[in-house]
Amino acid sequence: MVGGGSAGCVAAAGFARAGASVMLLEAGPGSTAMLSDARRLPIGPSSRYVDPITTRVDGVRDVVGTRGRVLGGSGAVNGAYFVRAPLADFARWPQDRWSADVVAEGFRRIETDLDLGDRPGHGTDGPMPVSRAVVAPVAEAFRRAATAAGHRDLDDLNATDAGDGVGAVPSNVAGGRRVSAAEAFLAPVAGLVEVRGEALVARVDVVAGRVVGVSGRDAHGEFAVGADRVILAAGTVRTAALLMHSGIGPRETLRRIGIDVILDRPGVGTGVGDHPEVAVAYRPPEVAVAYRPPEVAEAYRPRRVAETWRTPLEVVLEAGPVELRCYSTSFDRLIEGVPPGDPVIGVAAMVAEPLGSVVPVSADPFSAPRVEHPVADADRRALHDGVALARDLLGRPEMAEVVDHVTTDPGDSLLPGAALHTVGSARMGADDDPLAVVDSSCRVLGVSGLAVVDASMFPAVPTRGPHATVIMAAHRATEMLVAEADRSAAVRRER
Ligand SMILES: Cc1cc2nc3c(=O)[nH]c(=O)nc-3n(C[C@H](O)[C@H](O)[C@H](O)COP(=O)(O)OP(=O)(O)OC[C@H]3O[C@@H](n4cnc5c(N)ncnc54)[C@H](O)[C@@H]3O)c2cc1C
Repeated sequence: MVGGGSAGCVAAAGFARAGASVMLLEAGPGSTAMLSDARRLPIGPSSRYVDPITTRVDGVRDVVGTRGRVLGGSGAVNGAYFVRAPLADFARWPQDRWSADVVAEGFRRIETDLDLGDRPGHGTDGPMPVSRAVVAPVAEAFRRAATAAGHRDLDDLNATDAGDGVGAVPSNVAGGRRVSAAEAFLAPVAGLVEVRGEALVARVDVVAGRVVGVSGRDAHGEFAVGADRVILAAGTVRTAALLMHSGIGPRETLRRIGIDVILDRPGVGTGVGDHPEVAVAYRPPEVAVAYRPPEVAEAYRPRRVAETWRTPLEVVLEAGPVELRCYSTSFDRLIEGVPPGDPVIGVAAMVAEPLGSVVPVSADPFSAPRVEHPVADADRRALHDGVALARDLLGRPEMAEVVDHVTTDPGDSLLPGAALHTVGSARMGADDDPLAVVDSSCRVLGVSGLAVVDASMFPAVPTRGPHATVIMAAHRATEMLVAEADRSAAVRRER
């Protein structure tokens, strides 16, 4: 297993439970013990748990986006929002293995919903705990403003037919602790998986179209490990880079930087999607009063914004192509080392067109790739409308107690930052799809023994944050790969 992130931990546990001998090679630390505080994102400038990747947004601006580099991966450092993608999203996945019924059952099996487990479609015995935080006053006010503006109030964003509306965010949190796939899936089978932390895999070794192992570098120097099956779960950016550094990818791209081509797969690293996000900032009253003359400030002194939030994002509004994220506090209070700033409503384009790419910068397999993230016109329009909606909600009477005024200028640029919901760099598809990289069972087309189970293999951008879908999809993919391994073993025994 290459990569011990959200998908890698799920897959390693699934193979181990099926009796396979599993080694998990993770580039970052092999433990997530210090990262469970769901109110903080340990992704600041001095974090040792992240992989900084340069992203060129819209061809004009380079920004650094961090992905998790630690056991549990991005899911160990993320915002803990755990919302299922609507079943309609999966109409764009191969229907032989990813029909709506199969996916709905997949979501049910991965979770224990601590609040709503008794409802149809929810799980009570899956590994991942799901619960909803006590919402901060600002999130409560945002929810009231959205319903007053005509949006549906949803009591369960993970209901099968939830649709659009505003509601409390289901989180992979139990009692205030962020629970990553490392704790939920891997820890229960810890003795069955050999985890090697700080081990950066450089390439998959392939001989005559068949995987024979992987090679890389760790604290002791360069290593090579033999294996008859390699599962890639290094995240959307690094999985595509690994394939390319192994000679599997678009012929021209590989030749240009001097990598020998063993399999021309034009889809590797292309068609990459994300959820571009812009922010509308506002000044809460208790900060605003500090700028008023004392006698005026006294007269205006509002109820203090309470600090009762337990997750960074407790209420969201799904509104067609955009999601409005009412962050419960400013980013400097969520992420160490971020300069002080106003709290924001995030506006993300959720039906993003996947125009992006992962680009290797040199033939050195240890070099970090770059991401190109052009923003489609449709997404730009969605962001524009979403910003107008956010401004409207912030100005409504329901928010007056928690919002003094909007500080983002109407003329400010709408250029999104590096979005971190990247998917689709090794996408799933039929044999005759020239851009498909894996089949509907997640096996790499044209290489025996190689599979991809992380967010790279998504054939379309989900219209909700990807984490719940990553876990569900990795779980389902592992079941299929284990079943296929069993069938192959049975055939070998019969011979
Ligand atoms: C800061 C942040 C906040 C986010 N917030 C949310 C949220 O609140 N809700 C949501 O739905 N989604 C969120 N996401 C996205 C979500 O967390 C990811 O989509 C998901 O975790 C991706 O899972 P993955 O298994 O594909 O990759 P990852 O979880 O990123 O795992 C990849 C793993 O592979 C390892 N690796 C990489 N290269 C190598 C190599 N060469 N050799 C060995 N190991 C390697 C990495 O160190 C990492 O541990 C967020 C992402 C980030 C970064």
